[in-house]
Amino acid sequence: MTTTQIVLASRPLGMPTLDNFKFAEMELPVVGDGEVMLESMYYSIDPYMRGRMNDEKSYTPPFQVGKPITGTIVASVAESQSPFYKKGDVVVGMLPWQKKMIAPEDDLQKINVAIAPPSYFLGLLGITGLTAYFGLLDIGKPQMGETVVISGAAGAVGIVAGQIAKLLGCRVVGIAGSDKKIKLLKDEFGFDDGINYKTSPDMAKAIAVACPDGVDVYFDNVGGAISDAVISHINFYARIVLCGQIALYNSTKVPTGPRIQPMLLTRSVLMQGFIVSNYKSQFPEAIQKLEQWLSEGKLKGTETMLRGFDALPKALIGLFSGNNTGKMIVEA
Ligand code: NAP
Repeated sequence: MTTTQIVLASRPLGMPTLDNFKFAEMELPVVGDGEVMLESMYYSIDPYMRGRMNDEKSYTPPFQVGKPITGTIVASVAESQSPFYKKGDVVVGMLPWQKKMIAPEDDLQKINVAIAPPSYFLGLLGITGLTAYFGLLDIGKPQMGETVVISGAAGAVGIVAGQIAKLLGCRVVGIAGSDKKIKLLKDEFGFDDGINYKTSPDMAKAIAVACPDGVDVYFDNVGGAISDAVISHINFYARIVLCGQIALYNSTKVPTGPRIQPMLLTRSVLMQGFIVSNYKSQFPEAIQKLEQWLSEGKLKGTETMLRGFDALPKALIGLFSGNNTGKMIVEA
């Protein structure tokens, strides 16, 4: 049996292009003992995948040229040689960008599609939700009445982090790249205020207006000049959650910015980076909490869904132009 895969054709310099990806046909091996054959249903599209296109040492190894791109995928079991899975089960795992694949049983986790739509296990009930949860609660430690600013606020992680901060009684200000996104954050997701960074020529001033009491927690998904502006209004004993730096992922040179250390020092500010897998042992309890908030209507998921396997490269590139609101997903 053959299937289609997408391999890394070449490493990008700066913004990735469609030429960096290649579609290829491949023969599937037979399903061995302890393995299953899967049919992809939903592909998670994540900014960290851009880093894996570089030949750089990081917390995940780089993609190899000529080998398939991998990512988190929700798939259905088409054939099973495993006692743990039967045909029709829906699973999630770190899998190759292929329409069909053979996977070892140990690499998969069954998901309960009675709880939520399957794609939610890539977003709100997956790594996205966990990232927002641990970054905000463990590092941000927001207190009732504090001001929480979130960059990349209308993206997958930001929109969850903002909702959790609202649940905790904070004033939440989101930064995003269009008026439509800002309106959605305020009207649908309870954000108190929002700033469109693309139409705000003076971001520091915009932060001052939106945050008259300064910034107590900054959940940073973006970095660069946006973060420089937010940090210029950081309060004494504030917490800065370094979740992502997407503004820099396509940089070909290391950019320089203001030297922020004196300000962090004199205002006793904590700035901490994290990788969500640091919290792996606590995932089950966090997922339980996220499921509870979802079922109580306290958290809402939102997705941008592109259709068809061919849309995968375009979806990944689109993250860097703000083509998504909420979680970027490709449906098989
Ligand atoms: P996402 O926010 O859904 O998608 C990316 C969004 O970033 C875009 O929609 C775009 O929205 C914004 N963006 C793109 N380029 C930008 C730029 N140059 N300047 C400002 N904004 C830009 O992605 P996500 O999955 O939720 O991830 C958010 C961040 O968290 C990423 O940096 C990611 O790497 C990081 N992350 C970290 C962990 C961890 O373990 N630490 C885990 C998951 C994700 P606009 O329209 O607003 O520009």
